[in-house]
Amino acid sequence: MDIVFSEVDHCYMPKTPFEKMALKDISLTIPSGSFTAIIGHTGSGKSTLVQHINGLLKPTSGTVQVGSFTMKAGQKKIDLLHLRKKVGHVFQYPEHQLFEETVEKDICFGPVNFGLSKEHATKRAKELIKVVGLDASFLDKSPFHLSGGQMRRVAIAGVLASRPSVLVLDEPAAGLDPEGRDQMMELFSTYHKDHNTTTILVTHHMEDAAKYADQIIVMHNGKIKMCGGRELIFEEAKKLEELGLGLPNTVRFLQELKEKFRLTSVPNQFDVEGT
Ligand code: ADP
Repeated sequence: MDIVFSEVDHCYMPKTPFEKMALKDISLTIPSGSFTAIIGHTGSGKSTLVQHINGLLKPTSGTVQVGSFTMKAGQKKIDLLHLRKKVGHVFQYPEHQLFEETVEKDICFGPVNFGLSKEHATKRAKELIKVVGLDASFLDKSPFHLSGGQMRRVAIAGVLASRPSVLVLDEPAAGLDPEGRDQMMELFSTYHKDHNTTTILVTHHMEDAAKYADQIIVMHNGKIKMCGGRELIFEEAKKLEELGLGLPNTVRFLQELKEKFRLTSVPNQFDVEGT
């Protein structure tokens, strides 16, 4: 489902000394089935933006449309249960949200809450535990007896269990080592391709944006500074560097990107020949 922001502002704590305009006049379209990366410094408004997609936050002015759901400033009634069934949201450190006695119960919680029978939910839990790289023996364990990485995988299975058509990933690999981060991103990339989800990734990592996203949005001070295809990272490399968002200029990484995307021309400063 397409996601459309039209002239959206978001103000925290309005009319208090702590008032903060976190989003200013945001208009953008995230096409159905696309993989969009949102990059920008801490405090630039990325989390605020994505929290409008599942109705966690409402616009102070403007409109957010998620498929057939419309959320407007001042609107009282939104069918949040229905919206959240469609939009899965993986927060930073999702393992902090585990709470059930067993892994199976935790994975089943969302779908059962959304009306799926226990039997069907259990079937999904059995499938998903493998999708996130764990075996079926984990289902009977307490989530609190697992390692941090295993807990995160269980929490992600719990989000996927509702079969969301939109997947919002807000720094889902926060705190993982580079290998763990790569595995996590590969998991989401495969899920995105297999299920044709509309995927929105908030990330600090330009490499992940360049590797996985079709559309890149650069946030700065609550505004969209740039928006374009993956090639934006190369074409606007200078501007991004000025914002402190440059690509890591490593030979291995650039070579991989060149091969992966069959880039015929990359700007000189990123050309790997002779480096
Ligand atoms: P990012 O995700 O890019 O780090 P955020 O969307 O979290 O940025 O924050 C944007 C701005 O809004 C920041 O200045 C932040 O301090 C402020 N902010 C975020 N959440 C709240 C909140 N709950 N109350 C008040 N201000 C907030």
